[in-house]
Parts: sequence; C-alpha cells; structure tokens
Amino acid sequence: GGLTENESRLVERRAKTLGPAYRLFYKHPVHLVRGEGVWLYDPQGRAYLDCYNNVASVGHCHPRVVAATAAQAATFASHTRYLHETVLDYAEALLATFPAELGHVMFTCTGSEANDLALRIARAATGGTGIIVTETAYHGVTQAVSGFSPSLGEGVPLGEHVRTVPAPDPLRLPGDLGTAFAAGVQAAIDDLTRHGVKPAVLIVDTVFSSDGVFADPPGFLAPAVEAIRKAGGLFIADEVQPGFGRTGSHMWGFQRHRIVPDMVSLGKPMGNGYPVAGLVLRPEVIADFGAKARYFNTFGGNAVAAATAMAVLDVIRDEGLQQNAATVGAAFRAGLADLATRHAALGPTRGAGLFVGQEIVANGDPMAAEAAEAARIVNDLREEGVLISATGPRANVLKIRPPLPFSLDNLAFFLDRLDKVLARTSVKSK
Ligand code: PMP
Repeated sequence: GGLTENESRLVERRAKTLGPAYRLFYKHPVHLVRGEGVWLYDPQGRAYLDCYNNVASVGHCHPRVVAATAAQAATFASHTRYLHETVLDYAEALLATFPAELGHVMFTCTGSEANDLALRIARAATGGTGIIVTETAYHGVTQAVSGFSPSLGEGVPLGEHVRTVPAPDPLRLPGDLGTAFAAGVQAAIDDLTRHGVKPAVLIVDTVFSSDGVFADPPGFLAPAVEAIRKAGGLFIADEVQPGFGRTGSHMWGFQRHRIVPDMVSLGKPMGNGYPVAGLVLRPEVIADFGAKARYFNTFGGNAVAAATAMAVLDVIRDEGLQQNAATVGAAFRAGLADLATRHAALGPTRGAGLFVGQEIVANGDPMAAEAAEAARIVNDLREEGVLISATGPRANVLKIRPPLPFSLDNLAFFLDRLDKVLARTSVKSK
C-alpha cells in the first residue's frame, strides 16, 4: 500500500527535523501509537504482531515494569553519588545471574557506552590497543565503537588497530567450527603483532546477530577465547542482543559456549525500553583502570533506571520467560522446517530460543543468497500485520526476535502469514 497523507507528512517532518542520517523500517513505514505485550497498534487501531523488537523484551509497556518506573520516579530519581539502595539491590540481583567470577557491574545508558567503557578498561588492563571483531559486527555508535562496527558499511571506516575475522558461518567455514573460527582470530592476532600492535580485545555478539545469527554448535567460541587470552588480550561478550533469557537455555548467550568472559556488555532489553545498560566484569580487569580513572555516568544506574531494570528481572523470573523462549523457540524452528518442505526460498534455519535466523535462498540452494526476496518477504509480512527484518552480510537472513512472552498462538499466526507471503514468490521452486 502507498503512504497516507498523514504518513507522508510525518516522513517530511522527520527529514526536516532529524536530518538525513535516520532510516525507517519498511517500504511502507509503520506509524505506531501504542504497544501491549507482543502487539503494536497504528492510529486506526490496526494490530501488528511484533516479531522483531527485543527492547520491549518482556512485552510492550509491561504494567509491572511501568509501575516500577513510575513509583521510583515519584520517590527518588537521582544518580549514583549518594548512598541509596535501589541501584545496589539491582546490582546484587543482576550479578546473581552471572558466574561468580564476574563480580562487578558498572552502569551506562546505552550498549554503545558499555562497549566504549569495556574498551577503555581493556586497554588499561592489557596495555594493548588491538581490537578483533567479526566481519559484519555491530557494537554501537561512539567514535571508538563505530570504528569496530563494520556492519555500518564503507562510509564508516574501521578504527586504528581494528582487525576483522570471518563470522562463524558453518556454510562457509570448513571443518570444525570452533577450530575454524579460532584460526581466523589467531590470524588477526598474528597480523596485529606483525604490525607491532598488542591485542587488547576480542569482542563478539554471542549470537552474531548482524553477521547472520550463528548460535550452534554450543561451545564453538571456546577456542577463540583461549587464543585471545594467550595473546594477552581480553574477551568481551556483547550480550546486548542475546542477553536476558532470549536464548532460552541460558540467561546469557556466552553460557551456551561454556566460557566465562572478562567483561559482558548489556543493553536493549535490560529496561524494556527505559534507557539502561551496563558492563559486568571480573574485578581483576578493572584494578588498573580504577586506580587511575574516576567513573561517573550521570544517568547510568540512576534510581529510576535501577528500579525499572529490577522489575524486568522480576518479570523474566516470575513469568518464566526464559523457559518460554526455549519452548516457543524450539516450536518456531520446527514450524519453519515444516514450511521449508513446501517453500524452496527457505534455506537453513538457525538461532537459539526466541532468536531466529532464517536464510532466504534461490531454489533450495543454501549458498544462493536471495536478498531481494528476503526484502520482499519482510515488506509483504508488514502488509500482513507481522513485523520482522533481515540481516547478515548478504542481507538475506530473516531476523526474527519477538518479545519473550510470544506464545504458540502467536507463532501459529506468524507461520500462517509467512506461508501466505512465501506462496507469492517468484523464486524458482524445488
Ligand atoms: N551491541 C549490539 C550487539 C547491538 O545490537 C547494539 C544495538 N543495536 C549495541 C551494541 C549498541 O547499543 P545501543 O544502541 O544501546 O548503543
């Protein structure tokens, strides 16, 4: 459908006020005014099934989270330079979800800030400057962090001392995935060393979202972590995407790999939409930084952020959302496998829990990426009232990442609409 007059006006206002760097989702942008659970609503009251927004991870506008935000905002709403319990209660509750080695948490407002802080700490701890990331990684927006976010494209140059490694794509890396991925990391370490640069960090999103969603086999990250540590560098797990129970089997994506990172960055789902993020770390890595530097982030860990984030943790536990992610996530992959028997555009399905990556390919050939068809599916699903997106270096991987209360009924709705949209394909059938 074309844009309504009002939608065109909003598009114009955006361009005029926000400038040229912003991008909207979908050929026909969605105008949203309300959210509840897994549903989003436009001004006419049309419902969209949200299969993409992992910020509102416990459900849009969750009443218990909203109440916690409001109550704290009405009581005490200041920062971390006073004695106050809310941030400490939350820090203790959050740290209890991590392995014992990870003993501190520092608060920021965004995932980008958490990764930026992680880099500063790592450079102080190691004396190194080298940074290793995957080829299509995204870690955030600051000057330093955008320099190790190659998914931003050629318009955003890599920073100094940044090296990229091939993503752990089982279709494209030969042999044992853990060995092959670690070989790429070792090659990057060797290249840095050859140029006189000491490695500081290997940082990865533990489900490799922007690289195309690579979750399996569990454990494949361990050899790469060993390689960076042997080279004197630290391993940072970016849990902005997979964290807070989304992968189903675990609270944190790195736990699927049976490793304990040196630092873990958190964001997006942490406050269910309230801006709260953070960095969890081993106390020994911050000893040098802490001795020299002072850290104060005005809004990071403010009392309202802490109360909101505490409510999110409570809801994940009390509503069994991690378990739901495991159960519905497994049904999700089974449902896609079933559709794949009838639709040649569906290549391999990947992911963990409610983080699903679905390759769109030509003629059932897993190596024949179909970006245009993936874009068509994303846009046609939007017309059918279902919101997803596409990702990966070839832009052909459907990225499906619904709020965690997503039910089997919601899944049936999604599969029905996807079936319908796939039936309109012009891509050759098997
Ligand atoms: N890391 C990852 C893996 C992300 O996906 C994002 C956000 N898309 C960030 C970091 C940056 O988070 P923020 O936008 O809160 O700065």
